[in-house]
Amino acid sequence: MGLYEGIKDVAKIVQKADNVELYRQLIDLSAQALDMQATINKLTEENAELKKRQDLEERIERHQELYLTLKGDENNIFYCSHCWDSDGKLIQMSTKNGLYQCPHCQQKGIHDKDAYNEKMNKSKPFYAPPKSRKW
Ligand SMILES: [Zn+2]
Repeated sequence: MGLYEGIKDVAKIVQKADNVELYRQLIDLSAQALDMQATINKLTEENAELKKRQDLEERIERHQELYLTLKGDENNIFYCSHCWDSDGKLIQMSTKNGLYQCPHCQQKGIHDKDAYNEKMNKSKPFYAPPKSRKW
């Protein structure tokens, strides 16, 4: 039997006793019991969130650069250390050509210098002087 159903059953019995003071006390106690139940529900929810965060915290691997990975993650996904530290959110970073970048806070850096240097050597310079013009 749940708390609410129990209170209703007791209230029916107290009503039959026709005792106004007893009925008033039951109403007060019922309100307190329902408030306590709401508090328990809220705390249970908060506890589940904290456990979830703690589980994640234990899986987090920090690196020299400002990104995180999770132990046992076969995909080796990069997460933003700034977003985790400030908001407690795991935001997946985009990675390309040795670079990483957070789509949320825009934090970026180089995680693979070899891949980055290779890309930079292959890419065209940002500015190339114009070839001779024909007049
Ligand atoms: Zn971020």
